Amino acid sequence: MIVKPKGTYDILPEEVKKWTKLEDTIRKICYLYNYKEIRTPIFESYDVFHRDKKDTSDMVMKETYDFMDRGERKITLRPEGTAGIARAYVENKIYAVNPVTKLFYIGPMFRYERPQKGRTRQFHQFGIEALGSDSPLIDAEGIALGTALIRSLGLKGVTVKINSLGDEETRERYRNVLVEYFTKHQDDLCADCRERLLKNPLRILDCKVDKDKEFFLQAPKINSYWTESSKNHFEAVLNALKNMQIPYEVCPNLVRGLDYYSHTVFELEADIPEFGAQNVLGGGGRYDKLISDLGGPQTPAFGMAFGLERLLLATELCGKKLDKPDSIHIYFIALGEKAREECGKIMNICRIGGLACEMDYLGRGIKAQFKDADKNNAHFTCILGENELAEFKINIKDNMTDIQETISLYEVYNYVINKLNQSAGVCAGCTKKE
Ligand code: AMP
Repeated sequence: MIVKPKGTYDILPEEVKKWTKLEDTIRKICYLYNYKEIRTPIFESYDVFHRDKKDTSDMVMKETYDFMDRGERKITLRPEGTAGIARAYVENKIYAVNPVTKLFYIGPMFRYERPQKGRTRQFHQFGIEALGSDSPLIDAEGIALGTALIRSLGLKGVTVKINSLGDEETRERYRNVLVEYFTKHQDDLCADCRERLLKNPLRILDCKVDKDKEFFLQAPKINSYWTESSKNHFEAVLNALKNMQIPYEVCPNLVRGLDYYSHTVFELEADIPEFGAQNVLGGGGRYDKLISDLGGPQTPAFGMAFGLERLLLATELCGKKLDKPDSIHIYFIALGEKAREECGKIMNICRIGGLACEMDYLGRGIKAQFKDADKNNAHFTCILGENELAEFKINIKDNMTDIQETISLYEVYNYVINKLNQSAGVCAGCTKKE
């Protein structure tokens, strides 16, 4: 019997539904933030991923699938999405058409890693890249998009861990200070970090072995070396996050594994007890040299990536089911002809605003309409009888919390949008209480 290659797995028909649901949710959120989908090849020229001789990351050094094709071309299966998109951006001169280009991708990636729980050799990522703007608002918007995705999957306790690596000058200054400091502690460093000290001292801060040791905790922090403009950029990002009510935690040791980051770097976590220390769902940062490295113009950029397997696992561990039946936002229960007419009007406004709605078209009694609301997995049920209609009022019930209120007929849309914003997000497809 021929079996699947090591580190791969099949997504069987019964599991495909949750994948498509996750992909749908991603697409809806990207649409709201005006990110457009791009699909680049799964294999690229070897040089797309191996262009920077100084890149010492495991992914580039040890984990790529490289091979010669039958025409003697050196090929690499993509281990991540950013470099291929940067190549496409330059090759198609997208910068000449759109000064700011916001792209997203979903698809398989390949890394020759030791297969283990949550780590496979073929896995899937969703990511965004915003190219052409150095505005801190782009960083904050990207982080908001990631937060909205996690929330819309029903995951709670989203935290943004964030830091700034500053500009080139900041990193140069900081690198020198770090080398000096860790050279003094060379004998305490693990073998990997001793090598990092020579090649990429910032990466020492990523070390999982030494991270709790006293000399490590006492190491100089990058915030003392930010240039004025680096500091301003970071403060503007944090301010924008505050304005959007996105909780964050500044982590001075966060550097992220890749060499090309500058300014903002961040990771997004959700509160998933079973994940333990491995609760990072995605992350990213600003990178300003990649496009010019690939032969394009100097272009500031920002990107973020999520592992889809990890998002699905997190959703499952939190008891949320993505493959459950479809749901709607509001079911309108109307009692009497006039009420039905009025509900039709409100429903139309809500639908134009992006809320999925339904009502009864068979003139059924109240009990049957409640049943139908249930069958449709309605997040909210609106009830309009003659008395309410006479006062331009309507009853609205949140089926997740069972809270019922009487509001103005003209308030339905805003009321529902506000409630959805407070809980999960508009695009979730409501997750009705089980
Ligand atoms: P990275 O591109 O290394 O920053 O990874 C981004 C996300 O992709 C991680 O948070 C993981 O969820 C996911 N990921 C990376 N490598 C693998 C792998 N070998 N198997 C499954 N998921 C992965």
